Amino acid sequence: MQAPPRPKTIGHFIGGAAVDPASATRFGEVFDPARGEVQARVAFADEATVDHAVRAARQAFAGWSRTPIGKRTEILFSFRELMRKHVADFAALVSSEHGKIVHDAEGEVARALEVIDFACGLAQQTKGQFSENVSRSVDTYSLRQPVGVCAGITPFNFPMMVPAWMFAPAIAAGNAFVLKPSERDPSASVLVAQLWKEAGLPDGVFNVVHGDKVAVDALLAHPMVDAISFVGSTPIAKHVYETAAKNGKRVQALGGAKNHMVILPDADMDAAADALVSAAYGSAGQRCMAISASVTVGDAAGPLLDAVRTRVAKLKVGAGHDRTNDMGPVVTAQARDRILGAIELGLKAGATLAIDGRDLRVGGYEGGFFIGPTLFDNVKPEMSIYRDEIFGPVLVNLRSATLEDAIGLIARNPYGNGTAIFTRNGAAARKFQNEVEVGMVGINVPIPVPVGYYSFGGWKNSLFGDLHIYGEEGFRFYTRGKVVTSRWDEAGAGVNLGFPTHK
Ligand code: NAD
Repeated sequence: MQAPPRPKTIGHFIGGAAVDPASATRFGEVFDPARGEVQARVAFADEATVDHAVRAARQAFAGWSRTPIGKRTEILFSFRELMRKHVADFAALVSSEHGKIVHDAEGEVARALEVIDFACGLAQQTKGQFSENVSRSVDTYSLRQPVGVCAGITPFNFPMMVPAWMFAPAIAAGNAFVLKPSERDPSASVLVAQLWKEAGLPDGVFNVVHGDKVAVDALLAHPMVDAISFVGSTPIAKHVYETAAKNGKRVQALGGAKNHMVILPDADMDAAADALVSAAYGSAGQRCMAISASVTVGDAAGPLLDAVRTRVAKLKVGAGHDRTNDMGPVVTAQARDRILGAIELGLKAGATLAIDGRDLRVGGYEGGFFIGPTLFDNVKPEMSIYRDEIFGPVLVNLRSATLEDAIGLIARNPYGNGTAIFTRNGAAARKFQNEVEVGMVGINVPIPVPVGYYSFGGWKNSLFGDLHIYGEEGFRFYTRGKVVTSRWDEAGAGVNLGFPTHK
């Protein structure tokens, strides 16, 4: 009998070369979520492999940080062009390992490209300031210099876009980078590494190590790593923030979310329902900016939820490679079981299950990790389906008497990533934008992920650290300030033991 084909093995990329995965001692499984089958293995880095990658980055940093701005810009532009040529390859890789529909994966790649576009403007973003004559013959100027070796630890749900949020500004600013992508969908990062090399980036400036907690903790502890960027769930974000800070590194750690969409009774209910269904069930609810809680104010619930039901009935759920589908599976069997468990808890707590996605079967994909769109109504703030991040296609609806109550509800929620309001009343929208305790706000826009020339970041348990990711704040995170005070004068200043002043 012929042996079944061995799954391919995905390896690290260090110092400009692929590392033979056979050298690894531990591996993870990468699934095809639509079929529920293992499609590949991925090598898991141990401490020695992480050390190898960090040393390669440290060595490359010396040359890259001194590479002229014009040359770095050229390489960024070449990389951008290669990325654009490979959009379809990235979308196919992301879709096959994550499960999202290929048109959704294309959107993710487009948003990654936006951040890379911005990073091509590195000359502008790394400029300092100059003040002439701050004292007699004395000038003062400021520089922004790269930090050193920066590491990125990223989640499964955007395997292309979230790494780009980090590596694009970090490398543009003159740093070397070690990426530890999610072990669930690691292939896109390897293609990124190949394209950086093809674009002319010196070996060792961009490295990829795969793995789990062992690799992450080795990065957090490594004395040659200067900065850590993390995106993932809140408990791990806290661990990363605390450990990296304790080890003296600069760190930004973005966590989980429970994003509310407030619908006032005067909203255009068709537009609000379109937006809510798209934002709640797109990518099977596995977006950090997914709307997972709707808050209907006054008598908005009746018309809104009717319109949502009509739309959900038309959604087509299936495998990611078929672009006629609207929604794919969730990422793993564990994720599916966790989400089904959360639904059970909602039922036990007494919420009304208005749309039940538990028994969905997709023909030809019986082993896939599918859950249909699910909606709970009459949810109370103390219920776990509201308190906890479910990260699946489960929307919970809460009813609120007034806009003030809705804003108060959001303020009491421990997360503060994104939120949206749907209304025709400008004054209500302005009040919401001003008072809501959330980092990213949409007004008649359901997923307000800022464009690449702004910055992304939530409040409260959705971000530990102060600087947001990408945009100008990204460049600030990946550079450190230096201020020079210089005197060029034929005459000496003379002895003066007083504290220097401008006089
Ligand atoms: P996760 O926290 O499980 O994993 C994120 C990264 O941390 C992965 O690279 C993983 O290997 C690593 N990791 C996992 N457990 C670890 C441990 N115990 N110690 C050290 N490292 C560990 O997150 P996920 O399931 O991959 O992604 C989904 C989560 O990410 C959701 O909570 C979502 O809201 C969040 N997310 C947030 C944003 C944002 O911008 N705020 C964006 C995307 C995703």
